[in-house]
Amino acid sequence: MVETAILDTRMLINGRRVELDVDRTIPVYSPLTGQVLAEVADATAEQAAAAISAAEAAFDSWRTTSGAERARLMLRLADLLEREADSLARLESADNGKLLRETTTQAKFTVRNYRFFAGAADKIYGHTIPLDAWETFDYTRREPVGVAVLITAWNSPMQLLANKLAPALAAGCTVVIKPSEIAPLTTLSLAGIIEEAGFPKGVINIVTGGRDAGVALTTDPRVGRISFTGSVSTGQAIARAAADVLVPVTLELGGKSANIVFEDANLDRAVPGAVAGIFAAGGQTCIAGSRLLVHESIADEFTRRVSEIAQTIRLGDPADPDTQMGPVASTVQRDRILAMISDAKADGSRLITGGGTPAAPELADGAFVEPTIFVDVDPASRLAQEEVFGPVLAVTTFRTDEEAIAIANSTDFGLASGIWTQNVQRAHRVARDLVAGTVWINTYRYSAAQAPFGGVKQSGYGRERGLEALDEYLRTKNVLMDLSDDIRDPFAIKA
Ligand code: NAD
Repeated sequence: MVETAILDTRMLINGRRVELDVDRTIPVYSPLTGQVLAEVADATAEQAAAAISAAEAAFDSWRTTSGAERARLMLRLADLLEREADSLARLESADNGKLLRETTTQAKFTVRNYRFFAGAADKIYGHTIPLDAWETFDYTRREPVGVAVLITAWNSPMQLLANKLAPALAAGCTVVIKPSEIAPLTTLSLAGIIEEAGFPKGVINIVTGGRDAGVALTTDPRVGRISFTGSVSTGQAIARAAADVLVPVTLELGGKSANIVFEDANLDRAVPGAVAGIFAAGGQTCIAGSRLLVHESIADEFTRRVSEIAQTIRLGDPADPDTQMGPVASTVQRDRILAMISDAKADGSRLITGGGTPAAPELADGAFVEPTIFVDVDPASRLAQEEVFGPVLAVTTFRTDEEAIAIANSTDFGLASGIWTQNVQRAHRVARDLVAGTVWINTYRYSAAQAPFGGVKQSGYGRERGLEALDEYLRTKNVLMDLSDDIRDPFAIKA
């Protein structure tokens, strides 16, 4: 079990902590040791419905709370998260196996997100609209959608939650949060922080669990918006279920992002950029630059340099400051990655680095996969088309800019992409033509609270972060007043 002052695994429904029912718990495992870290509740459909009822009851008062007051509470939350950042980072690292230095950066980034959206809470404006008829007054109101259900994945629980919770609260929505059952601990720890921040009861509710809870939350017509981060298949299931109750959905799904290195790139910067794209977080990020497209004239040198770094990556305990790559999230995930590696070999891709589990005996209990690089990868192969969600890089060469763009756009995904070049026109031309929600130029894996983020195609729809994120939690009401004293014809529409 994790020993930390901030760990409390009870759910939060209507301002109350719900005691664990010993007959309905889910074990949370350490990806490093395989040991059980904690037990969390497997919420029933009734508990999920109760959380929605609580959020619904709290909505009227929260939506009429001034933006300034909502911002005050959000800033208080941010201050408390800043105070607890180190403990939260340690807990998240223990829970999902990510490096402590990564979770520490993410903990700070979440604070920035809450502050950014707190700043927006009292700046949600409609328009006044001049109509064709002079004697009219038309304006729009931007109103919160009501109860928002926020469902997150295991790979970055704190950050994924902040992407949703911060704009939802700023917009005036009340929420029900469900973290992944694989890594729910930091989200549950948030309950105490929310209480300390002084949010009114029912504004923020947290339930944990698996399918029962997930289905109950995504099939309830009282919900105004579902915001989901996770796999494509679960996203599709949620969108289908939500269609029956006509609840709109925001989907942040997977990716197969292309990191494109042109022959004029600054290779001293592009090499670590390529490594960051795929081996940071063990490749377990939706934005992983898992396809490396390299101009054929520099391919041998570039791949050799990336491969040399990959071979020296230190695997180990994510809490150890010397570790560069921790375990993947579970042994199930490790075995899935290994199966994809063996498929890639059979498919004709050439393995030049890694390809298995590390031999070191001290890593034997953890879900480790070696940093792995394949070259000569056919852009149509499974390795180039499917998300591995692990440290496996697929390298393909290209001859022209047009070919690079065509290969980059040739998957079902469209989340992120990277361009490495010193030619300004080329950079912006390629950025324009890439079908992806994010394009990084001469950098990779760079997040900002102000910059909108999201996918196209199978990577999902809707945007998080940036002012655009508020739109997911707001709807527009048009108000039209006839200023004239005209007596109208009741049998024809007025236009
Ligand atoms: P997942 O789809 O297995 O689970 C995500 C969440 O959905 C969990 O909370 C889970 O309990 C819940 N869930 C499962 N079935 C459900 C159902 N029928 N109804 C409602 N909820 C249900 O995803 P995962 O394995 O936790 O995460 C990995 C995936 O997430 C990868 O594909 C990755 O690319 C993606 N991801 C995307 C982003 C992004 O912003 N685009 C960020 C991080 C991760």
